[in-house]
Amino acid sequence: MQNYLSDKAAGLKPYTAGEQPKAKNIIKLNTNENPYPPSPKTLDAYHHFDASNLRLYPRPDGGELRNTIAKIYDVPASCVFCGNGSDEILGFAFAAFFDGDVMFPDITYSFYPVWAALFGITYSTLALRDDFTIPVDRLCAKGIVLANPNAPTGIAIGQGDIEDVLMRNRDSVVIVDEAYAAFGAQSAACLVPEYPNLVVVNTLSKSHALAGMRIGYALAQPHLIDGLMRIKNSFNSYPLDAVAQCVGSAALMDSDYYTDVAKKIAATRDRVAAQLKILGFTVLPSCANFLFVTKQGMSAAALKNHLELGDIYVRHWDNPRISEFLRISIGTDRQMDTLIQKIKGFPG
Ligand code: PMP
Repeated sequence: MQNYLSDKAAGLKPYTAGEQPKAKNIIKLNTNENPYPPSPKTLDAYHHFDASNLRLYPRPDGGELRNTIAKIYDVPASCVFCGNGSDEILGFAFAAFFDGDVMFPDITYSFYPVWAALFGITYSTLALRDDFTIPVDRLCAKGIVLANPNAPTGIAIGQGDIEDVLMRNRDSVVIVDEAYAAFGAQSAACLVPEYPNLVVVNTLSKSHALAGMRIGYALAQPHLIDGLMRIKNSFNSYPLDAVAQCVGSAALMDSDYYTDVAKKIAATRDRVAAQLKILGFTVLPSCANFLFVTKQGMSAAALKNHLELGDIYVRHWDNPRISEFLRISIGTDRQMDTLIQKIKGFPG
């Protein structure tokens, strides 16, 4: 057949997202979604949204959502960028800030190399230590991308380490992806006023149980936000729809509910980690809403298949260094109890 694709499209190796199985009664621990629903106030905002206004385009900059984020972080709205999920913002950031010589860890969010390839940006990877921690002092490049906590390991670094990277790379933009920070890592957001080279990216997908609505945001000084705006306005002026702007704003204002949910998830995580250790697993110290686990002599791929036969979905990558690990998202206590029972029944 005639090849209708551009050379660019034909040459891409796209990101593979975790499976979204159609079956209803499964235990879905494979894409780090929040197992609890959005707060009653968030759902109220959704149900009371004036749909007659949908004939109008939404605010191109995120409108009330942008103002809410600015208020929460005590920064001017010019320091806030709103996007259609943090994936979109991270993609925009690669295009806005990097020409080449970008660095990120060898084991991290596997979308980073995909954006680099999409925009023709050369990159290098920094090998994590044997214990999967980041040798932070070796991060040195014209652009740096760090997930904190890192994914899929769940291991976090402290604010001091982030500051160290920022200070040693003053002429480089440092992106800190805080998709999972609400579950136990220290946010670098408070460093934004101090560092003109810092971009902090966050999402409402996990901490605010709104993965289906696609809301992300970035915090940075206005000259960097302008860079993101330049890319956005060269691609899609209205990335966030009007419903998302309204619901996202309501969710962020209901912080007590979501702080409690994050604490509950962290408590479940720590309980399950202890149980898995008793069963002989090595469990990396997670500050996120997932665990990255392995067991000597046990095939991770086989355990994944065993769990799937019992309608439990977890994530496995057949990649160097991590092919014997599984990433298990934290579900409700009941879901995790079922998981533990199923693991106990695995003959391998
Ligand atoms: N960063 C990391 C590290 C992630 O794991 C994810 C989720 N796949 C994202 C960013 C993107 O999240 P979203 O686009 O839902 O905001």
